[in-house]
Amino acid sequence: MTTKSVKDTAVLTGKCYCGAIRFSATQAPQTVAYCHCDSCRRATGGPMGAFAALDEALVTFTPNEGRQVSVVPGVSRTFCADCGSSLTGRYDYLPGQVYISIGVIDQANDLVPKIHCHDTERLTWLHIDDDIERVAATARAKIKV
Ligand SMILES: [Zn+2]
Ligand SMILES: [Zn+2]
Repeated sequence: MTTKSVKDTAVLTGKCYCGAIRFSATQAPQTVAYCHCDSCRRATGGPMGAFAALDEALVTFTPNEGRQVSVVPGVSRTFCADCGSSLTGRYDYLPGQVYISIGVIDQANDLVPKIHCHDTERLTWLHIDDDIERVAATARAKIKV
């Protein structure tokens, strides 16, 4: 048997806008979620956030996870210091998981969201035609593994 490199076994890969930060994961996401909260809008710059939740032990960032910013207690997010891409979010109440922004994942087209979080904060003009679950607040109880 030959030893496989991380790249050979990666099922998920991605990079920031400028490519300074790359990552790969050896396991498919535990869940994929939209978040319509004000914080996720501001952090991502989009009309909503969308994230894939992964076991943080199975994700490798090269050379690192980017610049860390914590605005809300218990939540830390990272961004590429060069281009500003929103990369990850970590939540004290969801230990062991890292939430990676969908837009920086190469396989984003395959990662269909399963839930809308903070749907009551959704922009009123944003209409997403799906029948997945919508929760008013955090979905922490549902997305925790
Ligand atoms: Zn970058
Ligand atoms: Zn949010």
